Amino acid sequence: MKPGFMTKHIVCDECQKIIHLEMPIKGYRAWVAGDNIQTALPELSINERELLISSVCGKCFDILFDIKPGTNLEDVKNKYNKFIEDHLITVHVDTEEFKQ
Ligand SMILES: [Zn+2]
Repeated sequence: MKPGFMTKHIVCDECQKIIHLEMPIKGYRAWVAGDNIQTALPELSINERELLISSVCGKCFDILFDIKPGTNLEDVKNKYNKFIEDHLITVHVDTEEFKQ
C-alpha cells in the first residue's frame, strides 16, 4: 500500500459483501472530523463515497433507492437523506473504531 494510505473494510448492509476501500489516512481523518466527504476524499468515486457514508454498495444502492432511467433524482435525494439520518449511528461507531 502507498505510504499514508489505509484500507477500510466495509460490509454492505444489504448483501453482506465485503468491500475494501483504499484511501489516504489524512482524508479519512478529515472526513471523520467533520469535513465534507467530497473535499476530504476526492480520490474516491461517488459510489465509494456513498459506500463509506451509508454502508451500502453501489449495486444495492440502486435497488434500495429504486434508481433506473427516468427516476426523479429529487426523490432519490430525499430518500437518501432520510436513510443517512437513520444510519448516523453507523458513522459514529466508525469514528470510535478509528480512535482505538
Ligand atoms: Zn450490497
